[in-house]
This record gives sequence, C-alpha cells and structure tokens, in this order.
Amino acid sequence: MIGGTWPYRVPLYEDELLSSFLVRNAYAHGTTPYCFLNLYWPGKHIWNRDIDRTVDHDWLDALAILAGIPAAQLEASTLLPLRAILGSTLRNGDTPLLLSASVFHRTRRRHSLQFCPICLVEGRRWFRRIWRLGFVFVCPEHGNALLDACPKCGSPVVPHRSLGLDPSRCHQCGTFLGNEARETLLQTGVLEWQNLLLGALSSPPRLAGPFVQSEAFAVVRSLLSVLTPRPVHTAIREAVHLPLVALPADRLQFEHARIRERALLMETLAAWVADWPVTFRRGAHAARLTQRAFRRLTQPATLRSEVEQLPLGIARDRAYVPKVLDNQLRRLARKDRSAYRALRARRLQELVGLV
Ligand SMILES: [Zn+2]
Ligand SMILES: [Zn+2]
Repeated sequence: MIGGTWPYRVPLYEDELLSSFLVRNAYAHGTTPYCFLNLYWPGKHIWNRDIDRTVDHDWLDALAILAGIPAAQLEASTLLPLRAILGSTLRNGDTPLLLSASVFHRTRRRHSLQFCPICLVEGRRWFRRIWRLGFVFVCPEHGNALLDACPKCGSPVVPHRSLGLDPSRCHQCGTFLGNEARETLLQTGVLEWQNLLLGALSSPPRLAGPFVQSEAFAVVRSLLSVLTPRPVHTAIREAVHLPLVALPADRLQFEHARIRERALLMETLAAWVADWPVTFRRGAHAARLTQRAFRRLTQPATLRSEVEQLPLGIARDRAYVPKVLDNQLRRLARKDRSAYRALRARRLQELVGLV
C-alpha cells in the first residue's frame, strides 16, 4: 500500500454514500474506481459487494488516513447507522426497507440506487444515503420524483462503473442522468409516509402516524409483508377505496421492487392505516386476514393489539406426514415391483381407513 494521503482532497458531502465519495475520489485522480482502489489495495475485491451496507473496520481506518477524513465520519456515510434503526435483517439477509442491490460480480441485478435528476443537473453530482431507502420516492429538496434507472436504457444506476469518469452518467449507455423536468408522484399518502419515516430516522423521538417512533419501521415492514400478495393487495385497496391496480409479480418483496411498485404498496399501506385502527380492521376483514398471516412477523404492541382481535385462522398441521415409504418398501421397489405395488397399496388403504 502506498503511504500518505491522496494527492487531491475531495470533501465528503452531507448524507453522501461512502461509495459515491470513493467514486468521486477516483475520478478526481483521473482514473476509474476499480483502478484507483486497486492501486492502494491490490487484489482486494472492494467493488464486488455492496460497500455501503457493511464495513470492514481495518479497511476504513486505512481509508481514513488516505482520504484525510476521520473513520467515524466515513462510517457515518455508510448505511450502518440507518440499518441499526431499520431493524434486524430479514430471513434472506436483506435489511427491512433498504433497497437490495443483489451484487453479482461487477453488476447490480436490482435497481437499488435512486437519484434526483434535478440535484444532478444542478451540479450536485453525488449520491445520497436516503436514495437507498425504499420508502423515499421524492427529493426532499426539489419535491420531484426520484428515478431508479437510466431514463434512456433502463439500467440500474451503478456510479462506480459510470462512463466518462462522471458518476452522473449511465454506466451502460453514457446518458447524463440529470434532467430539469419536474415530475411529481401523485399518490396520496406516499409522501406523507416518506416524511413520517424520514422523521423517525432522526432524533428526537416523535410519533410516526398512529405509531410511536420505535415501532414505526417494524409495523410498516410487517404490514407490507401482509399486504403484498396479490389477492390481499386487491382486497385491501378495494376496502379503502383506492383504484384497483395489478402488481406485476406474484411474489414481490418490497426491498427488491422497482420504484413504481413500491409506491403502489406504500399507497395501499398509507390508506390502510390512515384512520387507525378503523381502516386497518376494514381492510383486514375484506382480505380475510387471520392471526396466522402475521405469525412470523414482528408485531410491536400497537399492531399486536389489533392482530389479536383477528380470527385465529386454520392451523394446518404440517407435522403429520403419513409414513408409507419405509426401508422395507424401498427395498421392494428395487427388487420386486409387483410386491412393492401391493404392499404400498395396502398401506395407503390402511391410512385412509379402507381396511
Ligand atoms: Zn433533488
Ligand atoms: Zn443508460
């Protein structure tokens, strides 16, 4: 590793992602982010993971010296402080409400980084932490809709692979991602919940809609899990008088979804809890939700007291599997097919009570 600090000092902007800061450092030194970091950490595959999501502290300490910025400040530019508030990871390893990148070698398979085209066109060509949050749809400063893809070719935004040493250019087609045209999201409730949840990320504690701040993220995430399956989504929208829309995928996960689908889900959620608990009960009844729909989900107190009033739901006993095929039958299957079929038939008849 080469000692000292980097020749050009690049400031770390407010709410800037660590990855964005590194990309700008590389470009300021006239090279690509891959070459730049490889110069200081030869052979270390830094860009082959979501570097904003986790932190290697030894690496961060070394980076602090090179960049001339305290390690604590660099760590604050990662998603770790947000992850600590958003709650424990889901079963597939995703962080609740944080857009999942799905890194595969050099590519990002999902649209996990949003951006404000007006921020970019105004010259602030860096990427912010809040653009990784699934419930953020509108630039707090400009009030226009964020985008989650190149407007020309539809590729996910991957600033560390952008063309022309400019992080605000699409890495696939080179199109400048900035644009002056203002677009606003019209869905009622979506912006309200963006503000409520962004407020809940900051201190001091306050109420987030009908929920106290400490439970807001867990309640929102659990409700999103419940309302996402198509039939439930349709029934709830109908019950809360929202226009009916079809979700594109049957098994959608909020953290993997595109911005338009996420906005639909948040719109449904906002209307479902708008007049808590009246609207919640109406939607739950229309979708025939039972306590079982919530059984694997986090249930903070406010949610639990409502879930406990839902019907129990039918408990399917998955533990009972009739044992027909044992070793004796397996042996017969190999050696004597007709004896195998006879024994198997007799056992099945016994099971259904015919003999
Ligand atoms: Zn903006
Ligand atoms: Zn493009």
